[in-house]
Amino acid sequence: MAKNLVICKKVPEAILDELESQYQVSYYPDGEELDNPDFLKRLAEADGLLGPKKADQHLLKKAPQLKIVSNISVGYNNLDIEALTKRGIMATNTPDVLTDTTADTMFAILMAAARRVSELDRFVKEGKWVKHITEELFGIDVHHKTIGIIGMGRIGEAIAKRARFGFDMNVLYYNRNRKREAEEKYGAVYCTLDDLLMQSDFVVLMTPLTKETEGFIGLREFSLMKKSAIFVNGSRGETVIEEDLVEALRQGLIRGAALDVYAKEPVASDHPLLSFENVVTVPHIGSATKETRDKMAELAAENIRSGLEGKIPPNLINQEVVAPEYSPKNQK
Ligand code: NAP
Repeated sequence: MAKNLVICKKVPEAILDELESQYQVSYYPDGEELDNPDFLKRLAEADGLLGPKKADQHLLKKAPQLKIVSNISVGYNNLDIEALTKRGIMATNTPDVLTDTTADTMFAILMAAARRVSELDRFVKEGKWVKHITEELFGIDVHHKTIGIIGMGRIGEAIAKRARFGFDMNVLYYNRNRKREAEEKYGAVYCTLDDLLMQSDFVVLMTPLTKETEGFIGLREFSLMKKSAIFVNGSRGETVIEEDLVEALRQGLIRGAALDVYAKEPVASDHPLLSFENVVTVPHIGSATKETRDKMAELAAENIRSGLEGKIPPNLINQEVVAPEYSPKNQK
């Protein structure tokens, strides 16, 4: 009998067709519907779950048959990995295919903040361009400046590459482990977090959201940054204490910010961060190009197919579950 697959995110039609030809698919393109009896019935029978907003203990309790949860993103802070592992359920993500696109986005918003692109776009469209612009509307240079990357992983490195070879920037980085290869390739210099904050013209946060990185950047960190610095967040909203960022902007501790992510998404239109002219904001579009989102969905589908066929998925996060002692039948 065909295995049961619950899909909780919109996926390209070709991928949906393919999955429907292999599995009994229940499709919820707008997300899981935990108050919908039909959804709960499908979840109770599900062998695989693709693209959930959240897979926590609450959801897992309602999915006794589950063997794999496949995320359509590289970040997996929406998955309770500990609970999944305990149940012997595989968890997968979609690394690599979105690395360059996300690095491009981070550079786009960094540049937009430095050169005041969104602000001046509004200025022209509102009919305020009536004479040559003068100093109060000038931006700051990006080329030959210092960029500090916090979290020198796949995306951090792709940002370093653009900074070094595209913009002749000095690259500083802070990471849990030292990345010698990045040092060789991009001339990146490993620093303490505080040194990076004090020396960088642009501070880019690119770590995953974990227990350790929640609230990683707050008032203490903003106070250490240069008054001329621009802060860029591409990780997750919760890695920054948003009230502290508001306070830092109010006090002029930094020049501005560029944000792709917020603690609560979609961000409320009356969120104080949106009131600053010197904050560039976009709606979590790091990987949001048609080409990249298609590749992510394809990879997520490949992961789920492997898992449901009893193979090890290419992007298995909790490797422990394939160890024999994690086999559900051996669990107490
Ligand atoms: P990655 O390759 O795993 O890189 C993460 C890096 O952060 C690693 O180098 C890791 O260090 C470092 N790190 C983790 N915890 C740390 C800590 N406590 N202190 C210092 N460094 C720490 O992941 P990636 O593919 O670059 O993606 C990174 C994150 O970006 C994702 O988890 C996601 O949250 C976010 N993201 C956002 C978007 C978007 O649309 N805005 C798109 C894609 C990804 P180690 O080398 O020691 O492990």
